[in-house]
Amino acid sequence: MSTSAIRYPTASLKPDREKSLLSGHLWIFSGALQQPPHWIEAGGLVDVKSSTGQFVARGYYNPHTDIAIRILTHNSEEAIDASFLHLRIRSALELRDIFDPDQTNTYRLLNAEGDGLPGVIVDRYADILVAQIHTAGMERLRPLLIEALMAETGARGLLLRNDSQSRRREGLELEEPIVAAGEVPAQVLVRENGVQFHVDPWQGQKTGFFIDQRDKRAALCKYTHGKRVLNCFSYTGGFSVYAALTSHETNVTSVDISAPAIEAARQNFTLNGLDADAHQFLIADVFDYLERAQQDGEQFDVVVLDPPAFAKTQSVRSQALKAYRRLNMLGMQVLRPGGILLTCSCSGVIGMDDLLGTLSQVAQRLHRPVQLLESYTHGVDHPMNLVMPETAYLKALFCRVE
Ligand code: SAH
Repeated sequence: MSTSAIRYPTASLKPDREKSLLSGHLWIFSGALQQPPHWIEAGGLVDVKSSTGQFVARGYYNPHTDIAIRILTHNSEEAIDASFLHLRIRSALELRDIFDPDQTNTYRLLNAEGDGLPGVIVDRYADILVAQIHTAGMERLRPLLIEALMAETGARGLLLRNDSQSRRREGLELEEPIVAAGEVPAQVLVRENGVQFHVDPWQGQKTGFFIDQRDKRAALCKYTHGKRVLNCFSYTGGFSVYAALTSHETNVTSVDISAPAIEAARQNFTLNGLDADAHQFLIADVFDYLERAQQDGEQFDVVVLDPPAFAKTQSVRSQALKAYRRLNMLGMQVLRPGGILLTCSCSGVIGMDDLLGTLSQVAQRLHRPVQLLESYTHGVDHPMNLVMPETAYLKALFCRVE
C-alpha cells in the first residue's frame, strides 16, 4: 500500500468488492459501497478503499446514480488535477497519431472510459473540437479539461454540446451549445479517408457526424463498383459518398427522414466532385420507403441499414429486436439474390449475438441463406476498456444474401 500524501475523502467498499476494480473496471455500483459517503457532493473526488482499508482506486462520486463512483486512476500517487488531464489527453492523441491528417482529420479524440476519462467524449473536426460532458464528476473538472484540450491540440475552438439525456440522471441540466474556448464556425470541412464532408457542429446529430462508421464506409467500397446501392438512414451521406466515388456507373439512393440531412448529403456529393443529380435523395421514413420499394419490385445490389438506436434501455429491448427484425426483413426483400447487405446496430443493449440472431431469423423466414463476410465494431479511435464490454455499442455486419 502506498503512503502517498495525496488524499481525498474515503469511500469504503464492502468485503471482496474490489476485484473488478483491480482488473481495471472503472465503475462502482452503489450496492458495493459499505456506506454511501453522504458528506460528499455530487461529482466530488473520492479515494476508494477496500473493506480492510487498502487504497484501491480514485474517482468521482455521485449519490444520484446507480454507478456511484467512476474511477479516474488506480495510482494513489496521481492527483486529479490539470497535469492528470494533460497526460490522459496526450495519451489519447498518441493513439490517434495513426491517422494521416492529409487523409483523415476527423476522429474521436476522447472516448470516455475507453480513454480513461469517464464522463466525457470529444470529437475532432479538423481544428474544431466538440465535447459532451455526461457526468457531474466531469462537469466539476470542466474548466481544467477545456484548458488542457485546447493546449494539447492547438484547436481553433471548442464547442460544448451538453444536450445528452444522460445528464438528467446525474442531476445536471441540458444546455444549448456553448463555445467554451476560441471560435467555432457554423460549418467545418473535414476529410475522412480522403473523402470530404461538411459538418455542422452546432446542429448536426450527435456531435455533427458519425465518425464511428469510418472503417465501415471504407470497407463498403469494395462491394459498390458499378452497383445500384441503397443507403437507408443516410444522414449526411457518409456511406453514399464513398459508394458513389467508387465508379461513375455506381448509382446511389440515399434515404433519411431528416430534410436537412438529405440536403447536406446532396451538398457532400457536390463537394466531392460528384453529380448529385445522377443519384437519388429521398426524405422518407425508411420503413415506409422499403415497403413501397418492395411492392414496386425494386432490387438493389447493395443495401446499407444504419438505423438510430432502437433501444436505449433494457426495458425496450424486445421491442427493439422486433424493429431490427422488421427492418432487416424489408432490407433483404429489396436486395437482389447474391447482393450485399451491410446491417448495423448502435443500441448498447443489443449485442453482436442479438444482431446475428436477428439476421438468421430473417434469413430463415425469407429462405435466403446468408454468408457472413465481415464484422466490425467501433473504429480504432473509439477504444474500449477490455474489461468493460458493457460500454460497446456499435455492431456492423457485411453479408452476402442468396
Ligand atoms: N449512416 C449515417 C448515420 C445514421 S444515423 C452516417 O454514416 O452518417 C441515423 C439516421 O437515421 C439519422 O440521420 C436520422 O435522421 C435517421 N432516421 C431516424 N429514424 C428514421 C426513419 N424512421 N426513417 C428514416 N430515417 C430515420
